[in-house]
Amino acid sequence: MSTNTNMDAFWMPFTANRDFKSDPRIIERAEGVMYYTNEGQEILDATAGLWCVNAGHGRSEIADAVSKQLLELDYASPFNFGHDIGFEFANRLIKHTPAQLNKVFFTNSGSEAVESALKIALQYQKSRGKAGKTKFLGRELAYHGVNFGGISVGGLTPNRVGFGPLLPVDHLPHTLDIANNAFSKGLPEQGIDKAEALEQLIHFHGADTIAAVIIEPMSGAGGVIMPPQGYLKRMREICDQHDILLIFDEVITGWGRLGAAFASEEFDVVPDMITSAKGITNGVIPLGAVFVKDEIHDQIVNNVAVGGIEFYHGYTYSAHPVACAAGLATLDIYEREGLLTRAAGDIGTHFEKELHNLKDAPKVIDVRNYGLVGAIQFDPSVAANGPIGLDFQKGCYKRGVMVRTMGNIVAFSPPLTIEANHIDRLVNVLRETAEDMFG
Ligand code: PMP
Repeated sequence: MSTNTNMDAFWMPFTANRDFKSDPRIIERAEGVMYYTNEGQEILDATAGLWCVNAGHGRSEIADAVSKQLLELDYASPFNFGHDIGFEFANRLIKHTPAQLNKVFFTNSGSEAVESALKIALQYQKSRGKAGKTKFLGRELAYHGVNFGGISVGGLTPNRVGFGPLLPVDHLPHTLDIANNAFSKGLPEQGIDKAEALEQLIHFHGADTIAAVIIEPMSGAGGVIMPPQGYLKRMREICDQHDILLIFDEVITGWGRLGAAFASEEFDVVPDMITSAKGITNGVIPLGAVFVKDEIHDQIVNNVAVGGIEFYHGYTYSAHPVACAAGLATLDIYEREGLLTRAAGDIGTHFEKELHNLKDAPKVIDVRNYGLVGAIQFDPSVAANGPIGLDFQKGCYKRGVMVRTMGNIVAFSPPLTIEANHIDRLVNVLRETAEDMFG
């Protein structure tokens, strides 16, 4: 693989820069569920970009909406000025959120949505006279973006070491339990007891010091870890008992990944806030959002004199008109094509069945899935000489499939438009690569 472009200046994010630049993988074009490289190879996008291109690539409807918006109103300050498209997009979004979450705070990314949610939680607690509630509880292996709040509540060690001091937080245990739950289809049976760790942490810190608990309903970047049956409901109960806010980070699980608009709907648990990004615009224009319970918004907004800014927070590009245009066109596609529930139908069943055929591939110790997200995990022995992730990813890419790897875990989250033959291709390439590397 090669490119004629000088790659020195671009310091690439979350990338092994020296390795990449010595053996680059350059994507030139995308259409549907396929990428095309600068060398003309077709690559199946089994990751929907980075868990975001849920309606597939090259949707002309979104391109047209963006181009029209750029010529109509390309930008206006969101501070003390408004534009219809921002209000219209918020109104459309809340048709998909849980009934109590009807307020939208716009950001540009998932990381910023997390920071905003944490700040809303603090402001809410303070505004109702609970200023002592300043700590957050996160969870091991959680990914909540890369800003300081997000890495504080996040639970992936490499993202945190070297960046302290961080916010005052503590972490719940993660719920990955291969010994008891290997090869689970859907939600694992074992592990609801892990929710009781929340009681213990609350007991240890004191409920009057804790503002909010933030969790991904399904941990994505930490290794595609499904919540055990009943676990999320139990978290909700414990938070209610102790007057602590519950935030679901649905940056990955939002917009149809699990077979409903949000994991909250799929698992029938209503958090106090939901963070969103990625699929909200099909990943094609940066935009994030926090969906907030009316009660939280009203507490903050109704306690400041009219004319006063109620929440000292926001971004130059909050509700960017061009991003809102992309988002509205994305919602049109999701709604018209039934994509938000497609993962719950036949295609999700096919994905589950084919994926679990990998049970007998070399060194596979777990296969797990829900909706249109899944992962396989290899025995730690394969990494005796260092992490296998990058090599496995390169092996799949060479064979025409893009996957995401984390340590010994390989994850897939294809566009929701994927067809059965693409899933078969993904599974064949995973098997071939595993046989080649570990067989
Ligand atoms: N939260 C979760 C659960 C995520 O998966 C991600 C990104 N993968 C983020 C937050 C951060 O989003 P962004 O990269 O858009 O800042």
